[in-house]
This record gives sequence, structure tokens and C-alpha cells, in this order.
Amino acid sequence: MNEQFAIAIHGGAGTLHRERFSQSVVQQYEKALRQALQAGLHILQNGGRSLDAVETAVMELEDCPFFNAGRGAVFNADGGHTLDAAIMDGSTLAAGAVAALSGFKSPIQVARAVMERTRYVLLSGQGAAEFAREQGMEEATADYFYTDLRYHQWKKKQENERDQSADLNFGTVGAVALDKEGNLAAATSTGGLTNKQYGRVGDSPIIGCGTYANNNTCAVSCTGDGEHFIRAVAAYDISCLIEYKLLTLPEACAYSIQRLEKINGRGGLIAIDRWGNIQMPYNSEGMYRACCNVNGEITIRIFE
Ligand code: ASP
Repeated sequence: MNEQFAIAIHGGAGTLHRERFSQSVVQQYEKALRQALQAGLHILQNGGRSLDAVETAVMELEDCPFFNAGRGAVFNADGGHTLDAAIMDGSTLAAGAVAALSGFKSPIQVARAVMERTRYVLLSGQGAAEFAREQGMEEATADYFYTDLRYHQWKKKQENERDQSADLNFGTVGAVALDKEGNLAAATSTGGLTNKQYGRVGDSPIIGCGTYANNNTCAVSCTGDGEHFIRAVAAYDISCLIEYKLLTLPEACAYSIQRLEKINGRGGLIAIDRWGNIQMPYNSEGMYRACCNVNGEITIRIFE
């Protein structure tokens, strides 16, 4: 037992225009991040599992309408919401995920149920919803997911479909943690990209791309342009750089972001290693993020 614990969370990276953030908006976001961080931290302080800490922190963020996950998720092209989520236990490499799930409040809870109650890793679409219903997961109607902000972003995006810069309304929430037993875990939940079509699924529920955890290396949760994170196999890449190339966590994260940049990928990630070192790099203008390190020091930031 190492007795040390630490946690990091994110609420997405993307084109966050600093000039559009008044002091009171910044404070609202910081408050929401603090609340989610504290929820996860509370579990770790009491000797709970990192898996429970990341799930709980992500559930808090899913419930908060400011972030693109659960309530407040972005709109699809057809006006609906389809949600992706994944969770991974670094002690066993067990993982569970859902893709294109509609009608349930907490996709991360469903992902955890996939991990613990099925022999599968990833369930999608109607099948995922059928499973969630069978498991008695809390359902939600379309109006639960509606927010004015996302509605206006969607309308704007539809008007500027060809303007790629209008596409960068990233969101996504995630958490990574180390518990007192030395176990790492990662969780990610998202509404994906505004105005997405054709059953598009991003990196978040793809193990190794947007989410990964392995006690021997690190736990990672990504946010950003999912197609690039999938092509870069970003989360697993960081784990591999530590395992095979013996890089430190900061080196591995920096290298991985560089590789992402080579294919014009934008976004960020949070990562924690087995000693509780935390990294929260991004190459977008900002990333909603917060962490508590092994010394109990709390950091909450949106921009630099
Ligand atoms: N990575 C997510 C996706 O592509 C989006 C995001 O992080 O905002 O689905």
C-alpha cells in the first residue's frame, strides 16, 4: 500500500475564446470543476477505489449543463443527442464502453455496467440502450439534454457547415486517478462533435484512443478532435512510451501531443502515472481542468 492518491479531471478542450469569458463565467466553470474534483477526491481520501473516484467525478460533470457530456451534450445533425463513454480499470485492464447511446442520464454508469456485468467491452446504439434499460439505469427524455448554449452552437454550425473552424466546439469530460492501493483508473464521457452525422463515434469510448489505464504505466483521458485521437491511438501511445521507451509521464505526454500535431490534431488530455504525477497538456486555446496531486495541492484552470 503506497497510501498516496491523486486525481485529475477535465471538462474538454477546444476553441475557448478567452475574451468571451467574463470573470463570473470563469467562476462558474471553476466551481463546477471543483465540485467534481471534490467528489472524486472524497472517495480517494476515504480509501476508496480509483475506479469509483473517476466514475463519480465524471457523473458530476455529466450532470452539469456546462460541459459536453450527459446534460448539456451537443446536438447531432438530426437534432438528437448520442453519447459516448468509457471506463477502464488499470489493475485488471478491464474496460467498458458505450457508443451512440441515447436516452440515459449517465453514460459512464452504463459503461461501467458493461465492464462489470457483460463479457463485452463496447456496446453501441440501440443495443446499448436495451442493455442500459435492462440494468435499470436512469432514463432521460430529450428535454433533459437540451441547453440553449448547445442549441445555438448547433444552429451556427449548420449555417457554417463548410467552415471547419466553426467545428471546434469540443467538450467532453474525463477523470483519471490513483488510489491508496496503487490502482489507476480512467473515465471519459462525451456528446461528441456538434452536428455529427451517420452514427459517428469519436475517440472517447475507443479503448486506447480517448481512454486508457494500466497500473504499470498510467491512466489517460483525452479531449479534442476525436478522429485525430483515434488515428494517433493517443492514450495507449502515452502508455507505450512509458512502458517500452521508459519515458517519464511528462516526456510521454509531450511526445504524444507532438505526434498529434503532426497530423493537425487539436485538443488535450489528462494523465496520471503510478506515482501520482499528473500532466494536463493541450494544444488548443484552453482546457477546463483541475487536479489534486499527492501533496493535496489543488489546481483549477481553464487557460494557461
Ligand atoms: N473527443 C470527442 C469526440 O471526438 C470530442 C471532444 O473531446 O470534445 O467525440
